[in-house]
Amino acid sequence: MIFVAGSANLDFVVRASHIPAPGETVLGRAFQTFPGGKGANQAIACARAGGAPTHMLLALGDDAFAQPLEASLADAGVVSHVVRTPDTPTGTAFICVSDDAENAITVAPGANLALQAKHLPPLAGFSHLLLQLETPLDSVTAYAQAAQAQGVQVVLNAAPAQLLPPALLATVDVLVVNEGELASVAQHQGSVAECLERLAVPCVVVTLGHRGCCARLNGQILLQAAFPVTPVDTTAAGDSFCGALTAALAQGHSLALAMQYGSAAGALACTRPGAQSSIPTHAEVQALVQN
Ligand code: ADP
Repeated sequence: MIFVAGSANLDFVVRASHIPAPGETVLGRAFQTFPGGKGANQAIACARAGGAPTHMLLALGDDAFAQPLEASLADAGVVSHVVRTPDTPTGTAFICVSDDAENAITVAPGANLALQAKHLPPLAGFSHLLLQLETPLDSVTAYAQAAQAQGVQVVLNAAPAQLLPPALLATVDVLVVNEGELASVAQHQGSVAECLERLAVPCVVVTLGHRGCCARLNGQILLQAAFPVTPVDTTAAGDSFCGALTAALAQGHSLALAMQYGSAAGALACTRPGAQSSIPTHAEVQALVQN
């Protein structure tokens, strides 16, 4: 079983001809809300990947924005452990998407910042804890340390990019990063190979967008090509990858196979708009892998 602790945000998305410059007002067109947040996206990706149940620790306000987030997790079969923050609103993200597919995003983390060390329940029965960096870093570190003490494997998606405290890095069994995040964690601007050498984590997986992914495990380098697709919206590709990879590892598959499932899930997420709505099921991933 997988436990995810992390963020949940309601995304407010408006499409417009261009992203407003400072002081400018732009008349937008279509407006939609989407459940999002890296934590919730990855919990849903784990659940859709099948296998054992997925649980998630998240914090939500006592407001109307919380309801669609809880509903989306429940629809996917995720068991939610909700910390309610009556005085702080649910996390939100305000996203302007321009006609040339650029975006500008402002996140109001709100309730996500209320997640504290004491909120993590005992992890008996769970094999993996999946974490990201959209909640307070000291809580993420405390969760990872608690998991390590209980013999639970720690998978950390170090996104958004930031420098990691050594106490957190010391707990991580599997680190998942894109190229920019890898440079931040390794504190080095060189090649992927150079950055990988600088990290003492036992297993590091680097996602490379349309170029696929690579990993370093016990000194060995593994490569996985991308599955060719025509992307329409790359939102949640990384989250789909992390969820499918972790689910495969929790089912006892090899890292090489887990990278294949992660890549297929990431590729499929690129072919559909939105965040949680674009995350594929295991059957879809399996069909692409066996194609
Ligand atoms: P992030 O969004 O976190 O930066 P990436 O862009 O590296 O993550 O995407 C995560 C994974 O999704 C990649 O490793 C790859 O397997 C898959 N993916 C992303 N973009 C594409 C694409 N254009 N075509 C095929 N697969 C893709």
